[in-house]
Amino acid sequence: MNKKLIREAFVEVAGKQTEPLIDFLDGKKYVNEFLIAKKLDLPINHARNILYKISEFGLVSSTRKKDKKKGWFTYSWKIEELKSLDFLKNMILKRMDQIKNQINSRETREFYVCEKCHVEFNEENALLHDFTCPECGSILDRKDNTKLIKEMRRNLENYAATLKIVYEEVEREQGVEAKKVRTKDATIKRVKAKERAAAREKEKKRKKKELRKEERKRGKAAQKSKHSKKKKKQ
Ligand SMILES: [Zn+2]
Repeated sequence: MNKKLIREAFVEVAGKQTEPLIDFLDGKKYVNEFLIAKKLDLPINHARNILYKISEFGLVSSTRKKDKKKGWFTYSWKIEELKSLDFLKNMILKRMDQIKNQINSRETREFYVCEKCHVEFNEENALLHDFTCPECGSILDRKDNTKLIKEMRRNLENYAATLKIVYEEVEREQGVEAKKVRTKDATIKRVKAKERAAAREKEKKRKKKELRKEERKRGKAAQKSKHSKKKKKQ
């Protein structure tokens, strides 16, 4: 599991406080909520709130167990890896869309700036203020967006690189899941074949037994008739 990616999804949903959570949660085993609270160094209710929040997005799932003495439920949690990756994928795609729109806007439209107040105006607003700053009265300068666009493109590339890793992880995890299903199917087939063979064997034995019984019966009947014939002769 790529925990770095899952961490990003968690933080997106429930903030920075969830960062350490990933270190002691697992994708297979359920971890008791009291242990999680202890490790997070948070009161149990606070830890629970975080876990509930993440579970609303399907990134973690829980199983509950009734405490026989106290009568209440305690929950245990595990990471839903595929759902977390899917969440992250959608988040990245959305961000990339936003950045593309921003780049497009910067490339096709003019922006103005007051160098003194560091305030930016789009073309319409600059025109509205007659290209002078409404705060200090300075003449507005046309903004050079080259640096900004370069930065946005770099961001876009970073997101694209992360997205590639997310896709690879999804593929790997789906492969693991498919293999699990295949193994399970094969096991079921093996068990069923064994059951069928056992049933056939049982049926064979039953028929044999019946046949023997039949033979014995016929044997006895033959003897009886022999006997009675003898009796008649006498
Ligand atoms: Zn100004």
